[in-house]
Amino acid sequence: MLNRIKNILTHPGMSAVNLYARADRAGLYRHYARRCRAAGIDRLYLVVSLDCDLTRDTDCAAAVCERLRGLGVTPVMAVTGELLEQGAAVYRAIHAAGSEFMNHGHRMHTYWDEPSGAYRSCFFYDALTPEQVREDIRRGHETVRAVIGQPPCGFRAPHFGTFQTRAQLRALHRILKELDYAYSSSTMPYFGLTKGAAFRAPGGLIEFPVSGMWSRPLSVLDTWSCFEAPGRALESADYLREGRAVARHFAEAGLPGILNYYADPSHIADREEFFETIAEWTRVAEPADYARLLEVVTL
Ligand SMILES: [Zn+2]
Repeated sequence: MLNRIKNILTHPGMSAVNLYARADRAGLYRHYARRCRAAGIDRLYLVVSLDCDLTRDTDCAAAVCERLRGLGVTPVMAVTGELLEQGAAVYRAIHAAGSEFMNHGHRMHTYWDEPSGAYRSCFFYDALTPEQVREDIRRGHETVRAVIGQPPCGFRAPHFGTFQTRAQLRALHRILKELDYAYSSSTMPYFGLTKGAAFRAPGGLIEFPVSGMWSRPLSVLDTWSCFEAPGRALESADYLREGRAVARHFAEAGLPGILNYYADPSHIADREEFFETIAEWTRVAEPADYARLLEVVTL
């Protein structure tokens, strides 16, 4: 919560965008579409990335990827380095089937907490020193290269929602530039709605902000909130409803952009609402990965 407050204070434009979203959501999306066209994005694309943080994600990752490929979507993989090493054979096979791998840091940032009987988050970048962040990114980079056999050129910050201040993003992009990265997808929907689905961050890196909900465009539509979080306010049916509403608006208004959504495989492996949402998105958007979008973007 404290981080959330800190972030709002760091981006004073956020409350204005929130008001704008409530008063004229269609206008907000038209602004987004203008920014997309200016960036060379003239149609609607879909990128689905899989956030793999736990052994239980590895256990179902192959099946989830196969099901997505059946829908015409080759997911981008964001797997922590430690998990990549543990599940090397699984992830190599997913890579061989065409998935792009991002660097998602090295250390595990989720764990099972026995006393509370729940999964908990840890290893937040905003609680680390800049040197520790750099070290985790460098180790994550080396692990992807060692396991997959190809160095990554994109990054998603662990728990990126708590790492959104201007200073944090500037520091992150500086480290990624040192590694010669082309892109990052570590920013919240606020950035997409104000700067477009792809924008060049200070320092030269391309950012692909993740996409939001229909009813609350500044909030991420993630599988944790709809399928998994204990005591959650949202249900699996909400995921489908929100995802479908976004798709319909883009289709009816003829807007270009990127539906940039991520999921944790273990949250959705057997959840029909999730795959129905993906199918809905593929009817209005062209499936892509970040490597393909880098060829499209003219920034
Ligand atoms: Zn993660």
